[in-house]
Amino acid sequence: MKLQKTIQTKIIRPTNIKREKLEREYSNFQGILKMQDVDFLPLYKDIKLYSATKQQVERLAKRTKPKKEQPLIIRKDCIKVKKTDNKLSKYWVRVPVYNKSIWVAINFSNKQQDLLNYESSESKLIKGKKDWFLNITVQKEQELKTNYTDTLSIDLGVKNIASVVQYSNKKTKFYGKDIRETRGHYFHLRGKLARKKIRGFYKKIKNNKEKRITKDQVHKTAKDIIDWAKNTNSAIVIGDLKGIRKNGARKKNNKNYKGKKFNRKLNSMPNYQLSQFIEYKANWEGISVIKVNEAYTSQLCWKCGNEGVRKTQGLFWCPECKEEENADRNGSINICKRGLGYMSKLGAVLAQPVTEAEDIKKSASFCGSECDLRISRF
Ligand SMILES: [Zn+2]
Repeated sequence: MKLQKTIQTKIIRPTNIKREKLEREYSNFQGILKMQDVDFLPLYKDIKLYSATKQQVERLAKRTKPKKEQPLIIRKDCIKVKKTDNKLSKYWVRVPVYNKSIWVAINFSNKQQDLLNYESSESKLIKGKKDWFLNITVQKEQELKTNYTDTLSIDLGVKNIASVVQYSNKKTKFYGKDIRETRGHYFHLRGKLARKKIRGFYKKIKNNKEKRITKDQVHKTAKDIIDWAKNTNSAIVIGDLKGIRKNGARKKNNKNYKGKKFNRKLNSMPNYQLSQFIEYKANWEGISVIKVNEAYTSQLCWKCGNEGVRKTQGLFWCPECKEEENADRNGSINICKRGLGYMSKLGAVLAQPVTEAEDIKKSASFCGSECDLRISRF
């Protein structure tokens, strides 16, 4: 599969001449986009724009009628990144503009440096309030591994954003404390500001800041899980939120309605974001992600498959085994068992102890035919 990642860079201290050239290129690009309804071809020929960019914008203008300004699209073969000893910046990019291309210095996160080794794809020039930004997209061809020694299963939840269990030894890790703390902090802060009646002003700023912090924490969570999968050569099984979003599980009168808790889970951004980050980061490392329908995974006992009861919100109790289990952990192991039943369909082989073979058999009957499997690869 072909995978892409974007390096977000800022153009630093362009000279006035370069700034003008960027400005002209950008506004001419927007100009052509706006011309779509008029018979623009005769006029279009006179517009000063880099030839390859002109082709890009022509295609875009035919396809969409954007209301807002669009980033200027630079064709993949027209951009070039160079490493230098320059004092201003180690990295310079050649940006194609009309007549003669210009070299500009860029700044970006050190973590993204390795990405420059990959083939570049379409890039985008974005005009900010004060600065110019360049999003350079790179791509690589990645085959997914087919041999695994273990499985990590992920239950996405409200309290614990992710409850992850390693199947062979049932090692469990609960994620989400940091995200809960961020949410709590801003919830408290908004309440305080609301009481002082300065809400409108602060709401916007603080919300954005909260989103930014949360996103960063979600990234870290995903990275930690992927590192774990890498170190243990595990495939990943995760509940499929997308399928649930579509099948009416959120509507009260629908037969698929899963309850209030479910709705809250779907509506809370971090869960969906996390599942997307995990899938992408895993595939980037060649790790398969198996998505399974998570219906009933929280109600049934992972050991015997019988329906259990909730002693408290977080505690699952099986009347058959007479044992207590953390509810999220129980759900996570069930998700894993459901995923195991599908590993062979994916072409993946899981080397595992013989005793676990029984589990796979059970899981096949346990998930029945309604199991909705979507593998990221297909
Ligand atoms: Zn049981």
